[in-house]
Amino acid sequence: MKFADEFRESSLARDLSRTLAREAEAIGRPVRIMEVCGGHTHAIFKFGLYDLLPPSVRMIHGPGCPVCVTPRAVVEMAVRLAEQPGIILCTFGDMMRVPGRTRSLAQARALGADVRMVYSALDALEIARRHPDRTVVWFAIGFETTVPGTASAVRRARAEHLHNFLLLCNQVTIAPALRAILEAPDVRVDAFIGPGHVSVIIGTEPYRFVAEQYRRPVVISGFEPLDILHSVFQILRQIRSGRPEVAVQYRRAVRPEGNRLALEVMEEVFEPRDQEWRGLGVIPASGLALRPPYADMDALRVFAGLLPPALPDPRGCRCGEVLRGVATPPDCPLFGTACTPSYPMGACMVSAEGACAAYYRYGRST
Ligand code: SF4
Repeated sequence: MKFADEFRESSLARDLSRTLAREAEAIGRPVRIMEVCGGHTHAIFKFGLYDLLPPSVRMIHGPGCPVCVTPRAVVEMAVRLAEQPGIILCTFGDMMRVPGRTRSLAQARALGADVRMVYSALDALEIARRHPDRTVVWFAIGFETTVPGTASAVRRARAEHLHNFLLLCNQVTIAPALRAILEAPDVRVDAFIGPGHVSVIIGTEPYRFVAEQYRRPVVISGFEPLDILHSVFQILRQIRSGRPEVAVQYRRAVRPEGNRLALEVMEEVFEPRDQEWRGLGVIPASGLALRPPYADMDALRVFAGLLPPALPDPRGCRCGEVLRGVATPPDCPLFGTACTPSYPMGACMVSAEGACAAYYRYGRST
């Protein structure tokens, strides 16, 4: 498969593994690298990359799974919205099984709510066009990867005078989350593997503060085994040289300036707002709100009474600590017993990008 097989060459992986061992030895101390994106977490497990890393290099998992960081109260709001008469609630498949306070969207659907799994905001918009007598709510989650699609749908809905299309918006941005992690007293991170898909949109500039202000390397990585090993190599080289910077390993997809068209449509439709994250609390300017010309499409305004107060994670669930990289999934007493992919207690076990799901799926116990 083009652009995959050449990045899975096992002999090259073994060569890189030996090079990493030499770099780690030269550094002479433990190194903790956070892979921000859940896609990287799964790739690390799927390809067994832990076994190719030096013992002194530890990967810790970050908050880059959009389903996982969506607060439980917002999931509950989605369930309540879906149960209102006349509403069609559209969302990504992963979001369907995340438990709210009483039930998940999938369970609400089983009880009669009109909940539809779609692949994009534009699919939800099409449903709004076909059902002018119903209110269609797009449960918009995700980082900058999905924000341009949501912004385009909002703009089109306005241009077409569609008055039955609303957003339940939990779109977030990655850079403020990295700052929150760097400022957290209980988190120790020496470097970041930057998210590949998000960086296709935002480029390198938003990460510059990590290298300049916090003196930590950021290497934006692809998702194949050699991509990730090569990114670890670049990080170790930066640490060894004492010159942290933002580098792009994933050059076949990421340009330093990002995607200007996507950034423009995001900027036109959204403005920053303080946002609550599961596990990280409220992070200043980390969420996106509709700008005033589009604010009437905000389901949180139209149905303000349905938003419950903040809800803690289910008893025993340690998703919050997993998302900050201070606990691993097996540290959770529910992991693999009360909480499995078939019966998830927390969001990190539901999502295809969740760390708990990765540990469970690939049988890792430490
Ligand atoms: Fe939460 Fe389940 Fe992960 Fe425990 S194993 S932290 S309950 S998602």
